[in-house]
Amino acid sequence: MDAIVEYFSNMPTLHRSLMLVGGLTLFFLIEQAVPLFALTYDRTRHTLLNLFFTLTTVLINFLMAFILVFSADWVVENQFGIIQWISMPLVLKAIIGLMLMDLIGAWLVHWIEHHVKWLWQFHVIHHTDQHVDTTTANRHHPGESVIRFIFTTLAVFIVGAPIWLIFIYQSASLVLTQFNHSNVKMPTWLDRSLEMVFCTPNMHRVHHHYRQPYSDTNYGNIFSFWDRIFGTFVRVDNTKLKYGVDTYMNEKETKSIIELLKIPFVGYRQPIEYDKEESL
Ligand SMILES: [Zn+2]
Repeated sequence: MDAIVEYFSNMPTLHRSLMLVGGLTLFFLIEQAVPLFALTYDRTRHTLLNLFFTLTTVLINFLMAFILVFSADWVVENQFGIIQWISMPLVLKAIIGLMLMDLIGAWLVHWIEHHVKWLWQFHVIHHTDQHVDTTTANRHHPGESVIRFIFTTLAVFIVGAPIWLIFIYQSASLVLTQFNHSNVKMPTWLDRSLEMVFCTPNMHRVHHHYRQPYSDTNYGNIFSFWDRIFGTFVRVDNTKLKYGVDTYMNEKETKSIIELLKIPFVGYRQPIEYDKEESL
């Protein structure tokens, strides 16, 4: 455990970059080999657009990283936050810390983004993708990257997270989001086994279904139990899913970087009402 803490305390930027590129490449290749949905779309164009938003996400997190470093130093120096207050073995601090970072920095902010209109207008860009794959993982409006960063910082204070825990969390968060957005056809036994603890592609895909209430389920990123605990967990037949968001199905809007960047600043679109409930 000490070696892990030591490594993540000084995790080189190069290793973090390699993880981002390596993860994307790995899942991208597996999708090419065994996709769940046939790759009938222009994959190069789709990837380039999503990579643009991935780069803005990386840039914003890079520019604001000093805030996380400062916060981590402060909580350790002042013994502030849950894992600083309660005495427990290091390994338990890592596990509980990671779970709470995931709850506040991913599940909670995601749930709030779906329930507060002006935040939804930033988050909706992520949902406008009509061909969800591993490149969708970090398709975030720059404004949403800032919102998520604020919640990660809040999590650092509540948890009392040292820098090594932040790096473990960010690494796990990155790999899991690339994994659970991937268009990979996985054997049911493997998906179900992993889903007992982690958010798998089979679990997360329904969150990208084009209409409510299914899009308001399975918010999790690393751990699957938050959705089970808070009653937002569903399991559906993934082959019946239709990706996108019903208020933004016009591809002229969802395939243009400029149009996507503008969405939060032009009027809010009311959810579409349907006569019939859907049952997937
Ligand atoms: Zn969402």
